[in-house]
Amino acid sequence: MDKKDRVYKVLTQIVGDEKWVSNSPVDCWCYSYDMSFVRPKMPQYVVLPETVEEVQAIVRLANAEKLPIVPFTAGTNIGGLCIPEQGGIVVDLKRMDKIIKIDTESRYAIIEPGVSHAALAQELYKVKARFGWPVGPPSASVLAAAINHGIGGITGRYGLNSQQITSMEVILPTGETARVGSCAIRPDAWHSVFPLPRLDGLFQGWLGTTGIVTKLGIFIPPVPDYVHIGTFSAKDLTDMEKFMRNFSKYEYADDLTAISWWLSQVPIPYPFVEKPKGAPEWNGYCVLYGFTEKELENKVDTFNKVIASERKAGSSIDATDVPEESKKGRTQLPSQIVGSTKNYCKQGGGGISWPGTFTPSNKWTEVWEQWKDIYMNKLSPALSPAVRVTMYRGTHYGMLRLMTPFPRDRPAEEANAANGIVECLKVLLDAGGIPYKPPVAYQREINQRADPGYVDLIQKVKDMLDPNHIMNPGKYQVR
Ligand SMILES: Cc1cc2nc3c(=O)[nH]c(=O)nc-3n(C[C@H](O)[C@H](O)[C@H](O)COP(=O)(O)OP(=O)(O)OC[C@H]3O[C@@H](n4cnc5c(N)ncnc54)[C@H](O)[C@@H]3O)c2cc1C
Repeated sequence: MDKKDRVYKVLTQIVGDEKWVSNSPVDCWCYSYDMSFVRPKMPQYVVLPETVEEVQAIVRLANAEKLPIVPFTAGTNIGGLCIPEQGGIVVDLKRMDKIIKIDTESRYAIIEPGVSHAALAQELYKVKARFGWPVGPPSASVLAAAINHGIGGITGRYGLNSQQITSMEVILPTGETARVGSCAIRPDAWHSVFPLPRLDGLFQGWLGTTGIVTKLGIFIPPVPDYVHIGTFSAKDLTDMEKFMRNFSKYEYADDLTAISWWLSQVPIPYPFVEKPKGAPEWNGYCVLYGFTEKELENKVDTFNKVIASERKAGSSIDATDVPEESKKGRTQLPSQIVGSTKNYCKQGGGGISWPGTFTPSNKWTEVWEQWKDIYMNKLSPALSPAVRVTMYRGTHYGMLRLMTPFPRDRPAEEANAANGIVECLKVLLDAGGIPYKPPVAYQREINQRADPGYVDLIQKVKDMLDPNHIMNPGKYQVR
């Protein structure tokens, strides 16, 4: 029996039924591309395990056959992260979709990789609990968002999705099971990664190249009873950023975000259109919660006072009046409407990617001015500078990202967008920002600029965990 048939047969034995395995070009093709500009690459096999033991057996097989494996949940990352650089087996974890526990006293939940934001939100809202839901596809995996430093609607207060992780179970690239956090000490204790060594870091931000996470503990804070959404606008990012920085110091907002005029259009205009004269370049919102009326009143009062004092000092920042219906989209997450893939990319023609970055707010204006110049003056066709900025957990770091739709069926225009994105990325890296969930093209730029000691350490960790280099090889550009 040749290798192809042998691997197919063993995979079928592992998952117990041919319907959960495929090596047909049609099925494999579905896993060869995503919405980004990253060039498609075919896997040889797709397998959908249901249990931890099955995942373990697949990993052992991949080691024995020296075949790459790529963990996959929904494939919505828009950075080509699940496109198999060197072929191999895509391990689609969608069938592992159990919510194992929701503990509202110790405030954590235990989930499997296939649990979507939509499914978890439905259960958590029943018990007035929440997670950092993204303004992205509700079908995406909560676990994948958390281990890749995802951002959501409570990032201003609680930090990144990864800062909500409390424990983990992982299948290592060599097939052993490891637990990190409190569940490593007692199998039924999933409440905290502290005070143990932070081994969870070996599996966070590694884009599925260091192991397959099969269970995750996450912190689930309560939903307060009172909420107010403040909206505001400014003529430029300088005024907007200054207001956001000053208001952030109170740490009152669960979400403090601003978007450029082009991102506030539905869908994002493709190609570039001029902003109407007189329209503010930036619009923003802050989501304020209170467990008591008084708490909320105090937050709203502070918001109004900061706006007033900025205006007194000459800023163009001003409170705006926005229909209640559209405000709801900021709290009723996950949503099929707010931030939906369709709204983002339908005018562009199906493709979407971004320079998505973590950048301190005092660098936003400098980078924004250069990004605008690249998108509006250096590309043909010119593209909309559809930028979002968000404060993360107070002010010490924040998000700066540029959503970029493009047509999938016009290669020259796709290349134009990809080129614009990479040029923007260089500007960003020079200013000290760090791209998140980076495609390979960005990863190269990051590694070239990185301290050699950092790259060397990454290589050593990867070699230690994955001696046969089977976990999504090539993705991190170190092995
Ligand atoms: C319109 C739009 C808006 C978006 N907005 C947001 C947003 O607001 N916030 C945000 O954070 N993201 C956003 N995203 C990005 C995307 O939805 C997230 O990256 C999401 O977390 C990916 O989940 P997924 O299930 O699709 O993961 P996938 O794309 O399937 O996988 C992502 C990565 O995780 C790895 N992986 C998956 N499962 C495992 C596992 N069990 N163990 C180890 N590695 C694993 C994969 O190999 C891959 O590298 C947006 C995307 C779109 C299209």
